[in-house]
Amino acid sequence: MTMTLPRSIFFCEVGPRDGLQNEPETLSVERKIRLIEGVVDAGVRIVEIGSFVHPKAVPQMGDTDEVARRIRRVEGVEYRALVANLKGVERALAAGVNKVKLTVSASESHAKANLNKTPSELIEGFTSCIEFARSNGAEVSGAISTAFGCPFEGKVPPQQVAEIARRLHDLGITELSLSDTTGMANPRQVYDLATRMQEFFPDVRWFLHFHNTRGMALANTLAGLQAGIVRFDASLAGLGGCPFAPGASGNIASEDMIHMLHEMDIDTGVDLDKMLDLARELRGWVGHDTDSALLKAGPCCRLAPLESVRKQ
Ligand code: ZN
Repeated sequence: MTMTLPRSIFFCEVGPRDGLQNEPETLSVERKIRLIEGVVDAGVRIVEIGSFVHPKAVPQMGDTDEVARRIRRVEGVEYRALVANLKGVERALAAGVNKVKLTVSASESHAKANLNKTPSELIEGFTSCIEFARSNGAEVSGAISTAFGCPFEGKVPPQQVAEIARRLHDLGITELSLSDTTGMANPRQVYDLATRMQEFFPDVRWFLHFHNTRGMALANTLAGLQAGIVRFDASLAGLGGCPFAPGASGNIASEDMIHMLHEMDIDTGVDLDKMLDLARELRGWVGHDTDSALLKAGPCCRLAPLESVRKQ
């Protein structure tokens, strides 16, 4: 018996948004642009370039308008941004963004801690966002954060996630991300939830979004692949976190995920060497070590010369 796995996946780089939003220092607009253009040059075809939220809430993302306006666009690449309300959608569209992502937490406590609203109140607010985006020719996708676990409530029941998905689906959203915001998901849970969600909503394009807070993100990626998911988010150099979730650490590092997939003969369309060079540069910009195995060990195809370990 062989393992059933997809031949290729769609890779989304979320470093410019999820990675940078939790860094104490705000990267310059020039460096953000270099990061976005760099991953696109490496072959990434979906990039989350930033968020249009209140600059007081996430000051690191205060210049997303300028970043969005100045990046050199490449045909066929999707540049998406996170928005939280109608004002955010208006700013995103004015800056030339053609896909906005609306996020709602599956857990009430996390939603309240994050945006001081219940999940229901948040979804009610989405109607005007979606209408405005669509009437202006932009696409809308959705993300369900804390879809596997909440730092305040523990495991999130699948029915609760399905109910949120149903409400978003009712609003016409057919691209949804299941996000493990604080790294609480385990592989069995990922397999079960991903399988169930695809059965319930066969017309939805599902993304998986893992944080490596407890070292389970690559195992969760594999469980997602086994469940037939072909869309994954990751963040270059493993940057990331969530300012509203205690102890949340970085996203799974893009280079670690891409490396594992390539070793398994799963095509990502991304040049790993170029991503590694960029990840190294990014680590230098943020000025601290990050949660990236590849930045430490390099890819397994890079063999060490035997002489280097021979006794003198
Ligand atoms: Zn995240």
